[in-house]
Amino acid sequence: MPRRFSASEYIDGILAGNRVLLSRAITLVESTLPSDQALAQQVLDAVLPHAGRSVRVGITGVPGVGKSTFIEALGLHLVRERGHHLAVLAVDPTSQRSGGSILGDKTRMNELAAHPRAFIRPSPAGRSLGGVTRSTREALVLCEAAGHDVIFVETVGVGQSETAVHGMVDFFLLLMLAGAGDELQGIKKGIMEMADAITITKADGGNELAARRARAEYQNALHLFPLAPSQWSPEVTISSALTGQGVPEVWQVLEKYVAQTQENGYFAQRRQEQNLHWLHETIRQSLEAQFYARPAVRERLAAVEQAVREGRQSAFGAAGELLEL
Ligand code: GDP
Repeated sequence: MPRRFSASEYIDGILAGNRVLLSRAITLVESTLPSDQALAQQVLDAVLPHAGRSVRVGITGVPGVGKSTFIEALGLHLVRERGHHLAVLAVDPTSQRSGGSILGDKTRMNELAAHPRAFIRPSPAGRSLGGVTRSTREALVLCEAAGHDVIFVETVGVGQSETAVHGMVDFFLLLMLAGAGDELQGIKKGIMEMADAITITKADGGNELAARRARAEYQNALHLFPLAPSQWSPEVTISSALTGQGVPEVWQVLEKYVAQTQENGYFAQRRQEQNLHWLHETIRQSLEAQFYARPAVRERLAAVEQAVREGRQSAFGAAGELLEL
């Protein structure tokens, strides 16, 4: 058993940028034990005034598009050349099925993981999407309090997790392959609509021409979407994580976005809205958890479900009965 730390040890450790305590605190927010959760809330409340000073970036794309290679290339650029402190978090509710998680593979992002100004954390395994997104958002706050000024939140780009991640970041980056017919179908229009920037990956060797063509196509496709409330027109770039070409340019696009949305007030307004959203989301999740944990509900639930399934009871009436318990 690893030693237990007190709330003040966690708080002091995180604020001093201690990675071991940061890591352990994230384990706390991922825990479902009530005692861990209580401690986690105490720590979160205390460090919250020190959070928020970062750029939060969602990065998504289908498996194989080159996310981890790209994140390593851009991440190394940010920590080495620009002195940023980077944290990379993952949201992958599928990891419970595959048994691993998208950042769990130790062979990924080796160089970045070894850099003193980078912190990489895989997606918690065995949780629902709601559970994963809540703990990721809390991990994000802890990382900011520990001094990370750039946060990447990576998702697999095939499910609903993108919407959840979009709700916790300032900027949403979509990675796409050139001329990949079927794979492109894997990216839903709704995900494209959320993108503040798209980069066509693997634009190297014989692939470069196709990447340029894809860039023009996506730029045209994006122009068809109505202008976002941010007043920002999404940009499409091409990049190669292998050669490094076009990688810093993606960051330049982000900086332009941040400058523009800070200027027009959207950046701050969106964060306020996200905070409110998370307040209500947290209330909803806690109430739901409390409800299903009630002994009377646990006792009756299976029978009521069966009655609803067989049409003997209406869903509305059944819900009413359970809520009365
Ligand atoms: P992920 O599943 O989206 O995280 O994709 P990976 O980063 O694991 O990359 C998938 C494959 O594409 C790997 O075999 C990489 O070596 C390759 N790859 C990634 N980036 C590039 C690139 O910029 N150029 C080329 N040619 N291959 C790349």
